Amino acid sequence: MTTALEINEEADEWRTAQRQFDEAAELIELEPELREILREVQREFTCHFPVEMEDGRVEIFTGYRVQHNINRGPAKGGIRYHPDVSLDEVKALAMWMTWKCAVVNIPYGGAKGGVIVDPRKLSVRELEHLTRRFATEISILVGPDRDIPAPDVNTDAQVMAWIMDTLSMHYGYSVTASVTGKPVEVGGSLGRVDATGRGVTICTLAALEHLGMQPHATRVAVQGFGNVGSVSARLLEEAGCTIVAVSDEYGGLYNPLGLPIRRLIEHRRETGRLEGFQGAEATGSQGPLVADCDVVVPAAIGNQITSRNAGQVRAKLVVEGANGPTTPEGDAILRENGVFLVPDILANAGGVTVSYFEWVQDLQSFFWSEHEVNQKLQAIMQRAFREVLTVAEERDLPMRMAAYCQAVQRVASATRDRGIYP
Ligand code: NAD
Repeated sequence: MTTALEINEEADEWRTAQRQFDEAAELIELEPELREILREVQREFTCHFPVEMEDGRVEIFTGYRVQHNINRGPAKGGIRYHPDVSLDEVKALAMWMTWKCAVVNIPYGGAKGGVIVDPRKLSVRELEHLTRRFATEISILVGPDRDIPAPDVNTDAQVMAWIMDTLSMHYGYSVTASVTGKPVEVGGSLGRVDATGRGVTICTLAALEHLGMQPHATRVAVQGFGNVGSVSARLLEEAGCTIVAVSDEYGGLYNPLGLPIRRLIEHRRETGRLEGFQGAEATGSQGPLVADCDVVVPAAIGNQITSRNAGQVRAKLVVEGANGPTTPEGDAILRENGVFLVPDILANAGGVTVSYFEWVQDLQSFFWSEHEVNQKLQAIMQRAFREVLTVAEERDLPMRMAAYCQAVQRVASATRDRGIYP
């Protein structure tokens, strides 16, 4: 019987991140000094800052920016607005960003930021003021050569535009490369909105090919119907798969004959949720994880496949669209059951890859067509998938550990080559 304390411990993302790193460090026989350096973050910044609310009250908010490692290039990572944000969570997400950038071999280190806030309770003006003040607080750390924020849970292109504008006001001129995920009109990249879901799709198709499965004979279930989940579902449907289950935070839908994804996206746009869509059986938010299908794409939040439900996963393939959707305990059960898993640091790296393209385009003031962006993304994702699969096969490792070994090797080499200052 699992106790509440054990469940809490299982859901501790910083513990998960460090455990995954330790396992990889052991496998690649990393020297002790580098283990000590890489299992901690380099910088963690906490700020408490005031925002004047609509009714004249002043409220104090807490925010974080963490840089895990910057030996391969400037730090890169999203900013999350959520009531459950904590320093430990931000540290874990920053470490995962380091490995993610290294897996796809783009010249960035890892960072993450967050503010403890429920943005749904703020007016647009309050949200803008909070964003601009938080941008000012972290301006001592971020910048186009140092640390480049991006959207994450509950932050979007508008929030990025405010951050870029605030930093630019401080510089005295426009520095579009200081943030990615911006609107296209102010230096954003074509293809950025679909990038993470497109990367998930590329990895899913590569994994299906490896497993000898045909897209046209594949049933897919997607948990989460936001940016990553809805784009993954749409592109996998376009690739020939049948999407049999989807869900959002309010509930889920199941139809063994397939769900019409474009109509579902329309329905969600009109009503704000999936619930109420005709022609499907209603399930819970976790429905897709245990649905009768061939592929599960968890694309909602962390800690969804755990020791409690991993044994009920019926799919042969899990592709992690979300960050940290599987706990180490859940992972072990999936492995025992022979499930092939494409880990988050590979599967959802399409977002940061196109963020990198956006930064490169901003720095050059020379913009690419959407076709060019998608082609370059496909080349990088397919290469990364092949490289990780090769490590997995050569060393007889699951894909997660193969991706970690690849990433930690790259970051460790850069850290070793640069040496310890002074
Ligand atoms: P989003 O806010 O656009 O969508 C999240 C979706 O998950 C929503 O549909 C929400 O209703 C649903 N959801 C929330 N709690 C749920 C629950 N308990 N059960 C089922 N559904 C639930 O966020 P997003 O940008 O799509 O991000 C999703 C995940 O992917 C996050 O873990 C994020 O860190 C990760 N990620 C996002 C990107 C990106 O570019 N957007 C890149 C890499 C990783």
